[in-house]
Amino acid sequence: MPTAFITGITGQDGSFLAEQLLDAGWSVVGLARRSASRSLWRLAGIRDRITMVDGDLLDMGSMIDPLREYQPDHVYNLGAQSFVATSWRQPLLTGDVTALGAARLLEAVRIACPEARVYQAGSSEMFGLAGDGVQSEATPFHPRSPYGVAKVYAHHLAINYRESHGMFVVGGILFNHESERRSPEFVTRKITMAVAAIKAGKQDKLRLGRVDVRRDWGFAGDYTRAMTAMLEQDQPKDFVIATGKSWSVDDFAKRAFDIAGLKMENHVEHDPALMRPAEIPNLCGDATKAHTELNWQPQLSFDELVTRMTVADLKRAGA
Ligand code: NAP
Repeated sequence: MPTAFITGITGQDGSFLAEQLLDAGWSVVGLARRSASRSLWRLAGIRDRITMVDGDLLDMGSMIDPLREYQPDHVYNLGAQSFVATSWRQPLLTGDVTALGAARLLEAVRIACPEARVYQAGSSEMFGLAGDGVQSEATPFHPRSPYGVAKVYAHHLAINYRESHGMFVVGGILFNHESERRSPEFVTRKITMAVAAIKAGKQDKLRLGRVDVRRDWGFAGDYTRAMTAMLEQDQPKDFVIATGKSWSVDDFAKRAFDIAGLKMENHVEHDPALMRPAEIPNLCGDATKAHTELNWQPQLSFDELVTRMTVADLKRAGA
């Protein structure tokens, strides 16, 4: 049975990826850091089918040991300080976990299991101020946050390990992808949770920063399929994964309020404190290379995604 090793298994993508790999007959080992209130809610359905090991991207030894022991075929580096807003408040931590953490993981693989194929989770935030057009693998990076900068470092280092050490390392450049498992601080989930709480009579207002910024939003479960497809190519290459359409925060919120039968204008308030020090007005990806070479297509539309998230939160809120 082939084995996959996943950092960030407790996160949104880690949980979808682990489920898909188990369904495909893989054995899954997940690295999770110790905390007083370790939260494994996203893994509830598969907890007894995966092996969890204690470890941290800040501690290379904690990755070398399990990589030596389990000799995985595939390694997915999904672990990160992944919230852009926090990266301004904690730029050094973000660099340590998201940038140097990737370096520690790549070194650990090189030392413990150099034949393993490695996926590095890159982000559309690496493009940053990329202009009004669509972004592809050929678009230059201009990151606009400490998070984006850390991801650029990790992405280039992944390419460097491929070129310097001949390792099979791929960099996925994934545009925003969401689900009912998204952490509550991300704007999409913040909206769907607030809509559900308002519908349930537990909250009245939703405070948002800029609502005109546009993002290319897809479904997380579609995007984790692309990660595996990248590791199954003959040659390691990097890919943009996106839907090719961008929507504003306002579009997302309107749709979510509509689904709940609520009027958005009665509940949304603008909060300047939520503005970012440097914003990215528009991100929209061109995933032609993934369509052609990986035969990858997203399955869920924007409307289906907002519906799925809103309905799940309405149900959770008992609304
Ligand atoms: P997420 O839900 O925030 O999950 C992040 C994971 O990283 C969690 O499992 C977290 O563990 C773990 N982690 C944090 N610090 C760590 C450390 N020091 N050592 C080990 N693990 C640590 O993120 P996601 O949405 O699943 O995204 C997965 C990856 O794709 C991330 O690298 C993210 O930056 C990248 N990405 C995401 C998107 C997106 O739209 N979702 C787009 C592009 C790229 P805890 O449970 O202990 O906090």
